[in-house]
Amino acid sequence: MRMKTIKTIPYGRQSVAEDDIAAVTEVLCSEWLTTGPKVPAFEEAVAGYCGARHGVAVSSGTAALHAAMYAIGIETGDEVIVPAITFAATANCVVYQGGRPIFADVEEDTLLIDSEDVIQKITDRTKAIIAMDYAGHPCNYEVLSNIAKKHDLFLIADSCHALGAEYRGRRTGTLADLTTFSFHPVKHITTGEGGMIVTNNTYFADRMRMFRNHGITSDHRQRAEKHTWKYDMVDLGYNYRLSDIQCALGISQLKKLPNWLKRRQEIAARYDKAFMKTNIRSLSKHPKCSHAYHLYVVRVPQRDKIFNILRESGIGVNVHYAPLHLHPYYRSKFNCQPGICPKAERAAESILSLPIFPALSDLEQTQVITAINTAVTDSQ
Ligand SMILES: *Cc1c(COP(=O)(O)O)cnc(C)c1O
Repeated sequence: MRMKTIKTIPYGRQSVAEDDIAAVTEVLCSEWLTTGPKVPAFEEAVAGYCGARHGVAVSSGTAALHAAMYAIGIETGDEVIVPAITFAATANCVVYQGGRPIFADVEEDTLLIDSEDVIQKITDRTKAIIAMDYAGHPCNYEVLSNIAKKHDLFLIADSCHALGAEYRGRRTGTLADLTTFSFHPVKHITTGEGGMIVTNNTYFADRMRMFRNHGITSDHRQRAEKHTWKYDMVDLGYNYRLSDIQCALGISQLKKLPNWLKRRQEIAARYDKAFMKTNIRSLSKHPKCSHAYHLYVVRVPQRDKIFNILRESGIGVNVHYAPLHLHPYYRSKFNCQPGICPKAERAAESILSLPIFPALSDLEQTQVITAINTAVTDSQ
């Protein structure tokens, strides 16, 4: 029987508090709403947190990926290897630059890009690999870096799921040539919309700063400080800037990240334990990694049936993701067919993302665990 007023528990959501609001209000009353001092302050805060030299703030995680493809010089005819299980933007950024995404399969137990398949898919047109830290688990960067080095490829980390995750004691942001983050409200910290590229490479950072500002080499504030109106547009860029209003929110949010990560890990540990002796299978976690748990993904039999039962009982489960190469766009534009990434295609039929976010209460989590256990047992 359905209760009359069921409040849905979402799979993810932001936490915004009074201090975040105060930080935004302060900027709204200041001189610079955009291209002001909060932008470099946020960039330094995120890069510093990761242990990297540069941060380049942009208007979204998607813009971050696009800027990364621009920085490494992806152009018409270039191939970039991407995982089959990821958000559309991971591959779309390659197409923005005229390149061709080549889909690699994922590992059965983690759904992270499969290095063996990456090697199989390298051709003499391959320029880069984009690894995606699915659910918040860092990819196998040791193996991927060796592949990249051996074949003279750039290694890009789409770490939009994995701000604060660690691989062998090193944080995301330091594990690839360029690392991208998103500050969309479902991600670890939010700026409403927003993104950043983190890198140790000064040349790439400079290129991306120019790219996010129409291809112009100086910004409004720099010109104001130098008392000049002159500027040079040296390449075709975009307006991918992040405003000071958003950066102020980001700076405030970042302070809470360590506690939020702990809470996400706590929730994950409880799910792990609850599903241990059931036929709800959690993804694997490697002991040398610290997991940021943007998502908590399980594999269940009869996923679509379970999905419907849970949604009807107010549990906002979701599916991340249908295989990207099988979307109509990639099928028709690049002639991608079923069968090119069989493990991804199989996994996509059983995966389900359960609610996980810092403000999820123990009581709500109990509700989720009870509901999924019942749904799985009932649909046997
Ligand atoms: C969220 C996300 C993006 C895109 O970020 P936006 O800020 O929404 O543009 C890209 N890749 C992955 C894996 C993501 O999860």
